[in-house]
Amino acid sequence: MYLTIHRGTKQIGGSCVELQANDGARIILDIGMPLAMPDGADWPAGTMRRSTEDLRRDGVLPAVDGLYRGDRPDVAAVFLSHAHLDHHGLAPFIHPDIPVHASPGTIAMLEVSGLFLPSATQPGNIVTLPLPPAAVQLGPFRVQAIPVDHAAPDSRALLVEADGERVLYSGDLRAHGRLRHLFDELPAAAGHVDVLVLEGTTMGQESGSHGIADELALEAQLSELLRATDQFVLVAASGQNIDRAVSVYRAALAADRQFVMDLYQAYVMDRLRELRPDAPQFDSPGVRIKFIGTHVTRMKEAGHWGLVCRMARRAKVRSEELFADPGGFAYLARSNAATVGLLRYLESARPSVVVWSQWGGYLDKGGAIADWCLECGREPLRIHSGGHATPGDLAVLAGKIGARVVVPVHTFAPAEFGSRMVSAVMMDDGCAVAVTELCRRGAAI
Ligand SMILES: [Zn+2]
Repeated sequence: MYLTIHRGTKQIGGSCVELQANDGARIILDIGMPLAMPDGADWPAGTMRRSTEDLRRDGVLPAVDGLYRGDRPDVAAVFLSHAHLDHHGLAPFIHPDIPVHASPGTIAMLEVSGLFLPSATQPGNIVTLPLPPAAVQLGPFRVQAIPVDHAAPDSRALLVEADGERVLYSGDLRAHGRLRHLFDELPAAAGHVDVLVLEGTTMGQESGSHGIADELALEAQLSELLRATDQFVLVAASGQNIDRAVSVYRAALAADRQFVMDLYQAYVMDRLRELRPDAPQFDSPGVRIKFIGTHVTRMKEAGHWGLVCRMARRAKVRSEELFADPGGFAYLARSNAATVGLLRYLESARPSVVVWSQWGGYLDKGGAIADWCLECGREPLRIHSGGHATPGDLAVLAGKIGARVVVPVHTFAPAEFGSRMVSAVMMDDGCAVAVTELCRRGAAI
């Protein structure tokens, strides 16, 4: 079997990994959007509407023959590790005859994005990944999708077996979320591994850069904040970070406040009802829903009017209620114009507390809440815990898995792997190397 990392040996985002069996059959693991353009600027609006040829020429689409619309399809399948754009964002360009395998949670999040963002097109041919020990058998390949702890729901590591060799691609993972037991269980679930392709997002970063040590400590800090103030508290976080929603919900209940989420968030939770029984639902105790006009329109257009009505009857909260008792609520919100509109209304009486509970880079880049804070001379409280394992946790994981060789991916500091784990072998983007050759290089270290 041959391993090619099309993108990710020296960068975070835009991950794309290829495995080719000795008989020539090929599969792709992840097809992510790079986080930024090569010069660091954001992708211009309309990038996703450009032609496959254009995007290939500019290096946005990795050079993978037989993968894209307009090609003669020559890839057996694509597997997605999780629903973050830097892992699946280019999937709409995949040839519709090529199946795209993803976990139920990933598929739910792709469908939710498609519902609320009309520009977010979906891959044409999507197939549900089973839980181990069930596997997907495709010609010479056997692929197992092992659940991992990460900030996207139902994230998976991908274990690929072919030609008597086993390659484990970690996807993104961590050891400090609510599902950290999955981190501890991964080595046993994977079994013998020849090549571990391991994400290293935090490699080379200052320790503590991912924020609070773990999700439970974050919940405790939020709970303390909600108890200490009688102000309205708004927590800005990603709607697909279920751990964070659970933390805000639990902290709100502990502080005797009602938990508020918007209709988008309530729909995300409803879609994940079975996967995450700990997630706050519209019919859970102490939950209220803030209705936003555009969300209602999208839900109605998608045929979910009955659900919208049930949510409204059970949990709808009006801005006037929040205004009358600001200390009675904690609002898990997104950085958008509707949120800032609500803040302006509430602040006509007294100030609110704004908590930034996602990657700080998004705040530094600007956006509705960042701009509003700047305008009022306000610094949001940063209470966050990142989605990626610390370098120390990665070293522990690599040690327990005991692969013959570890290949860094999704990292700006691949060289740091060598100082933290034995048998780390750096690769270059776009170069195919046989698993036997990688193992030989690993053994020579
Ligand atoms: Zn991720």
